Amino acid sequence: MDAGAGRLWACLMELDWAMTTPRDRGSYRGRLAPSPTGYLHLGNARTFWIAQRRARACGGELVLRNEDLDRSRCRAVYVSAMLEDLLWLGLRWNEGPDCGGPHGPYAQSQRLTLYRHALERLQRLGHVYPCRCSRRDVLSALAAPHAGDDEPIYPGTCRPPHGQLRMGMPVVAESQPPGEGPPRNAPGVNWRFRVPEGEAIEFVDGYCGRQRFTAGVDFGDFVVWRQDDVPAYQLACVVDDAAMGITEVVRGADLLRSTARQLLLYRALGMAPPTFFHCPLLTDAQGVRLAKRHDALSLRTLRGQGAAPDAWHRQWETLV
Ligand SMILES: [Zn+2]
Repeated sequence: MDAGAGRLWACLMELDWAMTTPRDRGSYRGRLAPSPTGYLHLGNARTFWIAQRRARACGGELVLRNEDLDRSRCRAVYVSAMLEDLLWLGLRWNEGPDCGGPHGPYAQSQRLTLYRHALERLQRLGHVYPCRCSRRDVLSALAAPHAGDDEPIYPGTCRPPHGQLRMGMPVVAESQPPGEGPPRNAPGVNWRFRVPEGEAIEFVDGYCGRQRFTAGVDFGDFVVWRQDDVPAYQLACVVDDAAMGITEVVRGADLLRSTARQLLLYRALGMAPPTFFHCPLLTDAQGVRLAKRHDALSLRTLRGQGAAPDAWHRQWETLV
C-alpha cells in the first residue's frame, strides 16, 4: 500500500469516532459526485445546486468527487466539460480533483487501494461471497420479469448456506505474487454482499421522509466488486463518503433503494452513515426521467441557447 492510500485507510478507520460526534453548525460536509460518462443535464444541475445550498445554509464544506470507475464509458473530455459546466452553473467547492484537499485523491479511479481494503474486510468478516453469474444468468433465473434499471434481485444461485461463508475462499488471481498487497480479484468473479433476509432497513430522508425497505424483498444480495475487477457503485460510494467525512449525501430519488443497501455496508464495515436528502427527479415533457442521452436538456445545449442559471436557481429554491 502506498503512503497516500495508507493515510486514507487510517482515516477510514477513525471515522467511527469522528462521525458519531454531534454535527454542529460548521461541521457539515456535503459532496457533488458526477460521473464523466456524458454531458451533465438539467436534472444533475438541480441536484448539485441543492447540495450546494444545503452546505451553505449550514456554513459547511462541499467536496467534488469524480466518479470515473466505469472505464468503458468515462471520457477525459467529459471531465473537463463537467468542471466547466459546474462552474458556469454557479457551483464552487472546497476540495476536488482540480483544487486538491486533505481527503484526496478526488477521482475514484485513483482510490482503488482503499476499495480493495474495504472488500478484504468484508471478505474477512464473511459478509460477501464469490459469484460467477452474469447479469443474463440472474435475469433468466428470476421467476418474475425484471423491470426498471435497478439491480435485479439475486436468486441465490451461488449463495453459500449460513455458516459456510468461507467456503470457496480465497478466490484470488493466480498470477499475483505472494505478499503483494490485498488480493486481486480473479477474472470473472463478482463479490456479492449477503443481505439479512427479511430485515427492515429504515431511515428518515431529509426530503422524502421516512423510508422502509425489506432486505431480500426490495433488493437482494448485491454486487460490491465486479467481475472486471472494479468496485461496484455501492461499495465505492460508501467507502468514499466515509473516508471524506461526508455528513449529508444529497442525490436523486432514484437512489433511495441504494441507500438501504449502503446502510448495510456502513454497518458491515463498522462505520457511522451520513444523513440523506434525495431530491425528486426531473422528467422531460413525456414524463421520462432525464438521462445523459437527453442531449436537448444537457447544460451544454441549454447554455448555447442562452439559458441563465439565476432563473433556474430561483425556481429550485422551493426544493431546498
Ligand atoms: Zn452467482
